[in-house]
Amino acid sequence: MHFYQADPTLENYWRGVILFGRNVASYKFALAHALYEVDKSASDLVTLEQLAVPFSRHLCQHLLTAPKQITSRGSKYLEACAQFNRGEIMQDKLTETTVRLGFNNVIDAFHNVNAGEIEKRFFLDERKTHGGIRLTENLYRLSERQQYQNLARETTARWNLVEQAWTMGISRNLLAVEYDAESQLLFSRVNARRVNITSCRNSLNGYQKGRCFYCFRPISLTPGHSDLADVDHFIPWMARDEVPNINGVWNLVLACKSCNSSKSARLPGTRLLARLHARNEYFIQSRLPLHETIVNQTGRQPEQRRNYLIKNWDNARISRLFHTWEPQAEGEAIF
Ligand SMILES: [Zn+2]
Repeated sequence: MHFYQADPTLENYWRGVILFGRNVASYKFALAHALYEVDKSASDLVTLEQLAVPFSRHLCQHLLTAPKQITSRGSKYLEACAQFNRGEIMQDKLTETTVRLGFNNVIDAFHNVNAGEIEKRFFLDERKTHGGIRLTENLYRLSERQQYQNLARETTARWNLVEQAWTMGISRNLLAVEYDAESQLLFSRVNARRVNITSCRNSLNGYQKGRCFYCFRPISLTPGHSDLADVDHFIPWMARDEVPNINGVWNLVLACKSCNSSKSARLPGTRLLARLHARNEYFIQSRLPLHETIVNQTGRQPEQRRNYLIKNWDNARISRLFHTWEPQAEGEAIF
């Protein structure tokens, strides 16, 4: 897959798991969160009992706001989580049920992306011999990477998007994720009612590999951090009368503060327009619901989507007399 082959770092393989590939249930996200949280200073063998506590806690929390966590009709395991939320069973019963039912498919399928396994494994399945999983060197090294701090937020944002698409249950050609600049949230509409989904910043970061879209400088998702990313309209907001759906995710990128202020009310050049197309094609590969949103807003075929960008870019440039702008590269081009 081009996404991690273009920059084969551990965090990008990990993002391959979280952002791409099909989801039939949200268990993969819960397992990712459990892996962020397990004590990495202790043994590399993590028993299912140890995993079960954070794994079930995350699922129970998500069930409170999004009752649909699986595409099939239901599951015995999720029913146990719902019983825990209603106070009908206690933690020890939930942990026991999680060990028995919660990990059946997710441990096998975690490393699968696009019908194949990624080249880096973050744990080994030792359920039969040791009653758990064994963390690999890759997971320890991942936890030391600069981008590691962003991954939990990216996982939560991806989880929120997927579960919200399932919960809304509307037809895929009506599905549209939109952006509210004031709250910086992505939202969607169900029967004219607005449903807030998740942070726009946290949703976009993984598709840019944690770098400024323009100059490739590393960016942060941590509020208050000096490198906190800005959400930027690639075609400036002032062209909103000429460019349809200028708030669509197709036109939103994350930028470092320096690029955002240097760009000001100018239009990024055609090289950057090609980069925007490439970034949007990552949304296509990530499926529900950003895939549907991009298809519905910009076209079914890659060529149509490319032309949509060129047409609007040209339109904005001519009608607003925009000057074009190029950033100063701060890092290697990795998407
Ligand atoms: Zn920048």
